[in-house]
Amino acid sequence: MKKILFVSSEVHPLIKTGGLADVCGSLPKAIAELSQDIKLILPRYQALKITEEIRFLCTVRVDNRNVNILETRLPDSQVTVLLVDYPSYFNFPGNPYVDELGEPWPNNAERFGLFCRIAVEVAMDRAHLDWQPDIVHCNDWQTGLVPALLSLEYEPPKTVFTIHNMAYQGLFPKTAVYDLNIPGRLWHIAGLEFFDMLSFIKGGLVYADFITTVSPSYALEIQTAEFGYGLEGLLAARNASLGGIINGIDNEHWNPETDPYIAQTFTSKNLTKKRLNKTQVQEYFALPVNEKILLFSLIGRLVEQKGIDLLVECLPEMMTMNLQFVLLGSGDKAYEKQLQALAKQYPEQIAIKLGYDEALAHVIEAGSDVFLMPSKFEPCGLNQMYSQRYGTIPIVRKTGGLADTVTDTLPETLALGTASGLVFTEASAGALLEAIKRALILYSVPSTWKKMQVNAMSKDFSWQRSAEQYLALYDNL
Ligand code: ADP
Repeated sequence: MKKILFVSSEVHPLIKTGGLADVCGSLPKAIAELSQDIKLILPRYQALKITEEIRFLCTVRVDNRNVNILETRLPDSQVTVLLVDYPSYFNFPGNPYVDELGEPWPNNAERFGLFCRIAVEVAMDRAHLDWQPDIVHCNDWQTGLVPALLSLEYEPPKTVFTIHNMAYQGLFPKTAVYDLNIPGRLWHIAGLEFFDMLSFIKGGLVYADFITTVSPSYALEIQTAEFGYGLEGLLAARNASLGGIINGIDNEHWNPETDPYIAQTFTSKNLTKKRLNKTQVQEYFALPVNEKILLFSLIGRLVEQKGIDLLVECLPEMMTMNLQFVLLGSGDKAYEKQLQALAKQYPEQIAIKLGYDEALAHVIEAGSDVFLMPSKFEPCGLNQMYSQRYGTIPIVRKTGGLADTVTDTLPETLALGTASGLVFTEASAGALLEAIKRALILYSVPSTWKKMQVNAMSKDFSWQRSAEQYLALYDNL
């Protein structure tokens, strides 16, 4: 049995801003189910949704600050969660990274710097917990200083650093080096320095014993200038210690056989029942209720990464076809306005809901025929996996985790029984439109469409599979 300290700035269901929280809520549970001794460590934000008992463990002194460590449990699991309690940094409303107005907290370097220091104290068993991990598994820039600081210790645990999104690097002005008391031995170009700035993510990329990212394709892509944001050289140099492990999904929460949010549960054996869910979506969005019209959907953050510009460019031409489109999301105001204008122009075919709505996300996944993910880049992506589980055919761009989890529908893949979606390569509206047309043609042959749905629904996206790969990695280290 291994002892693992899992370090993350967000963990579902305690706190979530994105996919990172989903992974960091599910993976530790799956690892615990493989009989490993795993503890999570997380800052104690005001917004944490704690349902289990909280217990005071100890006070640790670092950088002339007294920091409390509390303990609770991850709901529905045996996983212990250590909470780093330092109210003047973390006890504020708003989310982990930005205030209520969406502005980054001005002291983010200090906040996550302190979080990393405490994780190091726990990792070195200096927090009076009588527990020393064999492995410290860090996630994204907020935890990047942990491998760096541990590299200066005598006989530290092995470290793994997982990149969930290279676009966020935790870059701060050089003055932070002094404010955070960063040891001089870490401050150089082959260390934490990045063009005269302090880079948290480099702490993970340079000093971790092994780097993972959330899909094999993304692991290759980040070694190129297009996806590496200036760190591609470093990543290519560490190529021998870099790999991709695809995320799983929560198979209980996203299960068409038991989903409490949807009008009609169904399986791949009674797919006709899925129709009622289509009606539910059409009614919810006040679109004409018609079984025959192909229903497209998109759920997600409305940002450039997700290829929303390609979609906006396609929509007018899509309106000449026999289809409907619904969207749930929020993000850049410019995209929100463009989409609202299109919905107004084509009320019979386009409907959008701005905001975040978990229940509606389930209804849309279950009720639509086709799910769009034209992302520019996608480290792993979750929605394309949810879609397949619900027999909703994803149209994805061939990038990152999308390329690794969706099999394009071709005569060969149909014959092999693996075809589960439509994949296009070029990041252009034309290429997306081409894929949409292919979907319309395939839908007109019900037996083929059904085959694709059954293939999609029978894929294994369980966390157990991913957890086994992480465990093998821990063993190797
Ligand atoms: P990312 O982490 O880049 O945002 P992912 O596809 O990995 O993208 O994960 C996004 C998660 O957030 C999914 O669980 C998705 O269903 C959910 N989500 C995103 N936007 C919304 C929304 N507006 N309403 C409900 N769920 C959403």
